[in-house]
Amino acid sequence: MPIAAIRTHRFSAPLHTPFVTSLRRATSVDSLLVEVIDSDGRSGFGEAPQVWAVTGANMAGSQAAVEEMIGPRLIGRDPDDLNANCAIVAKAVVGNEAAKAAVDVALHDLAARRLGIPLPRLLGAPAITAATSSAAANSAADGDGAGAGPGRGVVVATDVTLAAGAAEALGAAAKERVAEGFRVLKVKVGTDAEGDLARIRAVCDAVGGAAKVRLDANQGWTPREAIRIINGISEEGLPVEFVEQPVAAKDLDGLAHVSQRVDIPIMADESVFGLRDLVEVIRRRAADLVNVKLAKCGGLGVARTLLVLAESHGLGTCVGSMMEGPVGLGAAASLVAAYPTSVVSDLDAAWWLSESPLQGGLRYINGTVVLPDTPGLGIDL
Ligand SMILES: [Mg+2]
Repeated sequence: MPIAAIRTHRFSAPLHTPFVTSLRRATSVDSLLVEVIDSDGRSGFGEAPQVWAVTGANMAGSQAAVEEMIGPRLIGRDPDDLNANCAIVAKAVVGNEAAKAAVDVALHDLAARRLGIPLPRLLGAPAITAATSSAAANSAADGDGAGAGPGRGVVVATDVTLAAGAAEALGAAAKERVAEGFRVLKVKVGTDAEGDLARIRAVCDAVGGAAKVRLDANQGWTPREAIRIINGISEEGLPVEFVEQPVAAKDLDGLAHVSQRVDIPIMADESVFGLRDLVEVIRRRAADLVNVKLAKCGGLGVARTLLVLAESHGLGTCVGSMMEGPVGLGAAASLVAAYPTSVVSDLDAAWWLSESPLQGGLRYINGTVVLPDTPGLGIDL
């Protein structure tokens, strides 16, 4: 029953639509899958997404961290000694948060499978959430086989991203996403400060109140541009929920400067990886909300602590992800199921895949993530 082996698998899965932000243009999800195997032959899975432009995490580096440093420390250990195992992962190397998160999630997935319960239950969520029955019924009506048995599960709301683009195309995409059932749209801006206000106006006009609109500039504005654009949004009365990461990640003074001069709430994303970063944002009153991601902070335990720390200081919370597949998204959605965030979370990344590279796992139904009611993440190779 001890941990017998740790394997890694590289995968690349195409997107149905290019994902464009001020930092990058992606046409595929490229991730390292980590598999932790016990001596009974049960496997748990975790995912380390490759994100050169945001975290610098890459498959070769994550693979080396898992195979050479983290994995050997876990072989032979009791897989049910979960917290101690995760502490070993956290201390095995400096940095490499994506690799650590992948092993941490795989350990949680394996522990949940050994107990025969879904990952959200292991984290403390109820078995089935109230909205499940209607989502499952809708999905059954769509003919995808849900509605009973494996179609049941925990439901978590998500936003959906509109990739950066021209105003007219953004308006059309916004209407499509609302028609598909999404009720929160996240618009990628920051590629061109001069045109951003027109883009935001086009999306707000297109949805006409049928969905919430939030923005993510991905560090694309200077503090001066951010203040001008965000105050322009307020002056026009456009209903924007919040603006994520308006300025450079390391420019906390700039982030605080913007936050103090606009009415629309500001969310820190790339500025906050781990606990020390969040403490600094709190200390400087640099943001109103924080976006917590496993691939930035290194695991489910740290992510939970970030959420609690933010709440305890009056900051709003959101859980997001990198462009990653059903394993990483399943873990992030399981975290939200157990520890609800103050705003609808940002869990759409796996929706962008043209097809899943794996068996089972979460599905997207009517603007929600439905996690399977099967042990662990419910995913197999
Ligand atoms: Mg972001």
